[in-house]
Amino acid sequence: KNNSVGTGMSHKPIDFNDIGGQTPAKQEIQEALEFMRKSDRFKAMGIRPLKGILLTGPPGTGKTLLAKAAATYTDSVFITASGSEFIEMYAGVGAQRVRSLFESAKKQAKKFKKNSAVIFIDEIEVLGGKRGSHSSHLEYDQTLNQLLVEMDGMKTDPELQILVMGATNRADLIDAALLRPGRFDRIVNVDLPDVTSRLQILTIHTANKPLGEDVRLSMIAKETFSFSGAQLESVCNEAAIYAMREEASFILSRHFKEAIDKVIMGEKAEKKPTN
Ligand code: ATP
Repeated sequence: KNNSVGTGMSHKPIDFNDIGGQTPAKQEIQEALEFMRKSDRFKAMGIRPLKGILLTGPPGTGKTLLAKAAATYTDSVFITASGSEFIEMYAGVGAQRVRSLFESAKKQAKKFKKNSAVIFIDEIEVLGGKRGSHSSHLEYDQTLNQLLVEMDGMKTDPELQILVMGATNRADLIDAALLRPGRFDRIVNVDLPDVTSRLQILTIHTANKPLGEDVRLSMIAKETFSFSGAQLESVCNEAAIYAMREEASFILSRHFKEAIDKVIMGEKAEKKPTN
């Protein structure tokens, strides 16, 4: 069963158990999602629906995964977009793209016979940045205004509930208008994993891999201070590649050591100035 549409097509639906660590984030999000799962009761109490959740934190910490899990948890269609897709040189194009995004959520929900949709917008600071702060600010302003219009208009359709989840690693750049009640009401921090969370993430990403007897994931978790979930996934994958190159049947401790070095070196190479 695949409930994903848009650019982030995934084959197996992601659920909260596929995400290591992030316990407070998962709890906050699940709590917030109750309004979609029990919408009748919330309506009966006169509680206004939650429209937006903003996920903030460094790259590769699981923000996209959390949004996908939210869609699975609420039996919603999942639509993804990135803030940079909305920025065009021509006036009005960005605003038009925002409209199409919400229209496609409605279409997809209808097609898959779902009564809710999660719209995930990665790098939302690009489109929801402080107004007037960009060089071609008119275009940005129109795009952000259109997002606000769409979010304000979401309440009326009884057939379809839409939740917008935005992700950013620059929460400081977000326009205050997006953070007002009825827009991104909840802000959820998605931080780098601590040692316990790193162990959980390593366990998830080695579940389908043959590990040698000398491998202690708890040691690897200790040695990967400040690694993100995405980097830990990369460590597991690279370690398997090193093992395969040696035609080993199991991934050994030294393969993980090499993989950790490679991921650290890769990061350094990326950060090196190019001039
Ligand atoms: P970005 O800000 O760069 O878009 P992100 O926070 O959205 O990053 P994801 O796209 O969710 O990060 O994570 C990238 C990949 O890293 C995931 O597909 C997964 O393989 C791995 N990963 C990241 N965080 C976790 C986690 N908490 N548990 C398990 N895997 C994780």
